[in-house]
Order: sequence, then structure tokens, then C-alpha cells
Amino acid sequence: MKILKFGGTSVGSVESIGAVLEIVKKSYEAGERPVVVLSAMAGVTNLLTRLATDAAEGKDFLDGLQELESRHFSVVKQLIAVKRQNPVFTKLKIYLNELEDLLQGVYNLRELSLQSKDLIVSYGERCSVLLVSKIAEQHFPAVHFVDTTQLIQTDSHFGSAQVNQPFSEQSIRAYMAEHESTLLFFTGFIAANEKGRVTTLGRGGSDYTAAIIGSAVGASAIEIWTDVDGMLTADPRIVKKAFSLPVLSYTEAMELSYFGAKVIYPPTMIPAFLKKIPIVIRNTFNPEFAGTVIQYDSGKTLLPIKGISSIPEISVINVVGGGMVGRAGFSGRLFTLLAREQINVVLITQSSSEHSITFAVHPADAQRAKALIENEFELELQANKLAEPQIEDQLAVLAIVGENMKQTPGMSGKLFHALGRNGINVRAIAQGSSEYNISVIIGHDDLAKALNAVHDAFFAKLNKTLHVFSVGTGNIGSTLFRQIREQHGFLLDNNDIEIKVVGISNSRKMLFNANGIALDSWKEQLQESGEQAELELFVRRMKQMNLPNCVFIDNTASDQPVPYYEGLFQSNISVVTCNKIANSGRFDQYRLLRDTARKHGVDFFYETNVGAGLPIVRVLRDLMMSGDRIVRIEAILSGTISYIFNNFTGDASFYEVVKTAQQLGYTEPDPRDDLKGTDFMRKMLILARDAGYPLEPEAVQLGAILPEACIHAASVDDFYNELKAADAHFDALKKKAQQESKVLRYIGKLEEGKVDIALEMVDSSHPFFALSGSDNIISFTTERYKERPLVVKGPGAGAEVTAAGVFADLVNVGA
Ligand code: ADP
Ligand code: ASP
Ligand code: MG
Repeated sequence: MKILKFGGTSVGSVESIGAVLEIVKKSYEAGERPVVVLSAMAGVTNLLTRLATDAAEGKDFLDGLQELESRHFSVVKQLIAVKRQNPVFTKLKIYLNELEDLLQGVYNLRELSLQSKDLIVSYGERCSVLLVSKIAEQHFPAVHFVDTTQLIQTDSHFGSAQVNQPFSEQSIRAYMAEHESTLLFFTGFIAANEKGRVTTLGRGGSDYTAAIIGSAVGASAIEIWTDVDGMLTADPRIVKKAFSLPVLSYTEAMELSYFGAKVIYPPTMIPAFLKKIPIVIRNTFNPEFAGTVIQYDSGKTLLPIKGISSIPEISVINVVGGGMVGRAGFSGRLFTLLAREQINVVLITQSSSEHSITFAVHPADAQRAKALIENEFELELQANKLAEPQIEDQLAVLAIVGENMKQTPGMSGKLFHALGRNGINVRAIAQGSSEYNISVIIGHDDLAKALNAVHDAFFAKLNKTLHVFSVGTGNIGSTLFRQIREQHGFLLDNNDIEIKVVGISNSRKMLFNANGIALDSWKEQLQESGEQAELELFVRRMKQMNLPNCVFIDNTASDQPVPYYEGLFQSNISVVTCNKIANSGRFDQYRLLRDTARKHGVDFFYETNVGAGLPIVRVLRDLMMSGDRIVRIEAILSGTISYIFNNFTGDASFYEVVKTAQQLGYTEPDPRDDLKGTDFMRKMLILARDAGYPLEPEAVQLGAILPEACIHAASVDDFYNELKAADAHFDALKKKAQQESKVLRYIGKLEEGKVDIALEMVDSSHPFFALSGSDNIISFTTERYKERPLVVKGPGAGAEVTAAGVFADLVNVGA
């Protein structure tokens, strides 16, 4: 025999009921002798609970009843042949009338006991099972509707009653014996006490009903059919990357479900465990998929943990007292009290000093627990041996679960690293003595982020998702988006990295999408659905969205984003930028940004500040980190200046070379912006700082290329006139160089902590002698690279290479 239990969503609509009957039919025809257990239609238990409380508050409940009727009736109309409909309508109508009477009674009395509530919600299962069994009658030779209030007996803890297992199993077996060849449809969730008053087994309790029946008949399997592919590594509504686990042990499933994995009700495991009946969780909407088998032994697996579960709403109560807590008998008294009063303690931690006990309860129980403690320990409170218990709200529990944790060291380290790196504050920790789970209490608002971050950390072989917020959509920004789009598949396949651009802003508009903005149409989306841009709001939203592995990309050349960097680091957001302003301002700022990023364990990457995509900042960092010492750095870090002097040879005049450079698009609209060397100066300053020298911008000696008259010319045209007039000056320089078999190069130099940038003449032994085109070049002379310097050379400007450099930095975040 096999138990097939279908949850609310499986009986929630015409289509799903069709799918349910297919599954039953298959099992029936395969000779598995299925026994069916059903929940109420999706949402019905909630609706009934609401109607009951509404009635007790004197509110209208007729609209709700109407909704209930039409949901059930519409299924009858669609799935039952017309000539068979009337008796079903009548039976349903009887139930609905009873229900209306009950609600009317509650309304009149303005009082709702747990007992009446159980009776009211029990109609959800009665209606759905009646309905589905009537539909099934059309497809199977003999079908019976079984109301479990007649078979399963419980105590009188209405709302969450304890089952009298031997008695119930006995009556189930007796009933089954009488209905050997009938296909039985049982109501889940509901039962009755010894006086016949209707009780319920707790929310989600239909699973438990299935296990009780399974245990009674010694079923070969208990199949829990729901709307997901089994027990997943985390709640799929929060962790999109959660995946289905093929096998779990009873203990693992119990721990996962106890800590919030709603897919199965924890007590379900007990009868199955005792009789060693496997529980299989399967998807009604994907019946081909094998789902999750819960059995005695979960077998060998490479996964360090099985899953991460969570309870989103929890309250914590702290009991502190030097004179009491930790003394023999205190915690016994405390927890006996709570158990007696039916307060479910989710988790307990005790500080090592033993002066405090922290425990977590459901928020609805918190005030009552506090009052009970105050009452029980009244004398101790008066004597100041105990402080007034403190309640903390707005908390959540996150638990990692798995039997493998026992043998694997470093599990908690990994957990705390993932949480810490994402700025998630841990309020309390509990590791069960079984070592099957480690639970932490965190802020409710951090839960989604924490679940995703921890999931990424433990299932790293899946992939890591970087959430990107990018400002600046000019040449570099748009090129970067294109590159990310083109490389998406490759990165996922080869580096296990997924990049989601979740926020984009330029100076006009901004756009957010936590699931990732489609990068083939970001421009249109920004245009059409973007809101008005405001940097401060952009940053605030980025923090509020609270996504894990978050990166801010500044692709602007503006000073506006810079003041936000520090706060971003403080919110555990990494920064990647091609914007030089932050690093080339005051030294204090340079240092503060690094210190803040380091303190919060996030990255600040800016490879493209110097030489675009060329690996310069990274090479310098690697040299420094590996203990090398910089003796000298020489560099040409301006493509324009590089081009001009590389081509200032032969007969061409300086004026002509500059003109050509402009025509080729190598210069700014006013070529002086390049030739003044300020940008070059900033790059040298950043390198010097990265090499360990705390320099201020004024300390850089910037030698002029241009004569004063050119610099002060009023317009670009005037500038060119002055430049032409200065040809003789440049010609003389060139001649002098040629006579000495040298060339002119404008070189930045860092030596003994000093930076100067000057026009020099170099001979053929110098690595910059043969430079051509508009390439940048840098040579590092270090302790290790003393004889022959380490040289990096290549294109140091352009959207394509700069965006590629930003991209490389991005991919390295968190590596
Ligand atoms: P049913 O109505 O079939 O009993 P439930 O709503 O009780 O279904 O449970 C299924 C839901 O549990 C899924 O839709 C899923 O959103 C949620 N869920 C939470 N955590 C997990 C998990 N770890 N694995 C699978 N589902 C989970
Ligand atoms: N219908 C009940 C509930 O919603 C029982 C169940 O679905 O398992 O809690
Ligand atoms: Mg359920």
C-alpha cells in the first residue's frame, strides 16, 4: 500500500485536480493500492481562520462564505458530469450551511474558542475531500470519502492536538479492512478528541495524517505531493538557486522542517521513522521528477550541508541574573514552566559566563512567556537576583543542517564568514549537541540576504551571484553592460560566477530590478520605466535592497559619487571604479577608504585608474604583497602625450603632430587638457600611494611641456597659433635629442618617495625609446627586477579596454 498525500495547491484548481487524478490513476493501475489524503484547497484554511476571527469581532463573513462556495462549485461545474452535479452541490451546500451556522454563533457570542475554531477550519478539508472523491467516482470503480474525525483520536489541545497513536491506528486498520477494494480519500489535518469534538493537528498537519495512516497500514511509502520538486536546499521563494535534494535522513528532514522548511510538517517524520517507511516529497506539477526521498540513512554525499532553513519571525528573551542563572535547577525550572504552559522554545543558548540564558520563541508567545517568568520568579526579581526579562523582536533564525557537518570541521567558520562579509550581525548562536544543525539568530530584515549569502558559500560549486549597481552610462558604462551580456554564459560555465546588474543610473534616470535588468534592452528600460535619477536615493535603495555580494560600479568621471564610497563600504558593499577622483584627492581620504573597505571585508578595485585595462595597479599590489620593494617606477601614462612624442620625429613640426593627434581623436577638444599633464599627474600620485608613499597632490613635480604663451591662450584657435609660434622651441629640443641619438619622452618617475613628471631625452638603452603609437608604458624597477625592469605596455585608453578592466575587477570581487 502507498499513501499519496496532496497539499493545498495540488487541489487548488481544476487543472491541478486533473493532475492529481492522473497520479492516483497511475499508482492504482500499477497495483500500488494507493490511499489518498488531501488538504483543503489552497488558501481555504487561511480564509476560514480569517472568517472565524472576523465573526468574533462582529465583522461580516458572508462574502467570504460566498467565495468559498463559488470556488468549490466552479470545480463541480467543470469536472463533474452535469447529471451527477446535483447531489454534490447538495452535499457541499449542507457543509456550507453548517459552517454558516457556526460562524453566526461565533458572531452572536462575539467569542471564538480554539475548539470552535478547529471545528470551523475542519470544513476546508471536508469540502475538498468530498469534492475530489466525487470527481474520482467518475474514474474509478469504487471510491469512498473518509472523514478522519471518525478515525483519528487526539487529546484536547485544540489547534495542535496530540494523536493517540495506538487507538487511531487500530481504528484506521479496522476501517481499511472493511473497505479492501475501495479507493479511499481521507481528510488530512483533522481529527477528534475522545468526546468526538473536532480537533486539528497543527498547520500543515495533513502531512502528519498521511504518516499516521501510513504507519497504521504499514505502507511501502508515504508520498507527499506538493508544488515544488521535493525538499530543496533552501526556501525557493527566497533563494532562487535552491535545488532539490535527492536523499535526506529522517533527522535531517526533521531539522530542516523544524527550522522552517514548510514543505513538510515536522511531526510527520516520527511515525515514518519508527516504522522505517520512506517519505517521498514530489511535485504534482512535475510528476516525472523523482523528488526527495526521506529515509533511514541519507547515504554518502559530497555536500557539506544539506540545507539552510529559516524561521522569519522570532522573538528572543534574555534572562540575566548573577544570583540565579547558572545555578543548579534554574534552567530546569524555567523550561519546565514554559513547557507546561505550551510555549514552544525554538532555540536556547547559554552564555559561557552562565549569567544569562537566551531563548527564542514565536512572537505570539513572547509577552506571555515574559509574564510567566516574572510570575514564577517573583521573589528572585524582588531580591535582584534576576533582572526583568528582556524581549527582542524583529528577529529571525537561520539554520544550516546536515549529518555531514559532524565530521567536517570549519562549517561554522564558513557560516560566520559568509554572514560577516555581508555585514550581517549575529545576535545568538546555537549548535545542537547532535551537530546536525547550527542555528543563528539575526535581524529579520537581513534574512533574505543571509540565506542567499550562506547558500552561495556552502554550495559554492554552484555559483556565486554578484549584484551590481552601476552609475554612469557613457561609453565605458554601456560597453561594460555589453561585455557582461556577452560573457554571461562563459562566466557561469567556467568561473561559476553570475553577474546580475540590479541597478543602473545616469544623471537623468535610474532603474532597479532585484532579479537583474535585461542587458539587451537596458537603455530602453531606463528610458521608459526609469525614475528620475537622484544619487542619494540610488545609494539608499541599494542599501535597502540588502542583496548579498553587492558591488557598486562608478563609471563616471564625476566627484559626486565619491562621498558615498565610505558609507558603501560600511554597508559591506564593494566598489569598483574607473573614476580617479577618490584616489587622487587628499591622502586622508585615500587612506580612509582603504581602511574602511578592509574593516568591512569588502573590495575596492580601481585598476582602470591607471592605464585603463592594463594590469598596472594589480601588478604593483602583487609585488608589494609578495614582499618586493619598489626602487623606481617610470611611466608614460597618457596616450595622447605618448602619441605626440612618438611621432615627433623626422620633419614633422610639433604643431603638425598635435593637430594630427586631434584629428585622429586622440586628444580632448582642447589638447591642452592632455598636454598640461594633470591627468597623468593623478595616475602617478595613485601609483606612488599604492607603492606606500603618503603623498599629497602638491608633492608631485609636474614639468611643463608647453610654453607659457600656449597655456594662457584664450581659445583653442589662439592656442594653435601660439603653438605654431613655438615650433622653433620644440624643433630645438628635437635637434638636440637627435644629436645625442636620443628621443623626447614625457616621463613620470617615482623614486625615493618623490614623484616628478618631466620631458626627458632617452637613448636606445631605455625601454621607452622604441615606444610607438599611443601606447602607455610603465616599468617597475624593484629589488627583484633590478637588472631588467618589469615592463607593462599597451593601449592605455579607449572604452573597450577600460570597460574590460572594470569587468576584470568586478569578476575579482570577493575572490
Ligand atoms: P502543500 O500545500 O502542498 O502542503 P506547503 O505550502 O505546505 O505545500 O509547502 C510547500 C512550500 O514550501 C513550497 O511551495 C515552498 O515555497 C515552501 N518551502 C519552504 N522551504 C522549502 C524547502 N526547503 N524546500 C522546499 N520547499 C520549501
Ligand atoms: N489545510 C491545512 C493547513 O493549511 C493543513 C495542510 O495543508 O496540511 O494548514
Ligand atoms: Mg503543507
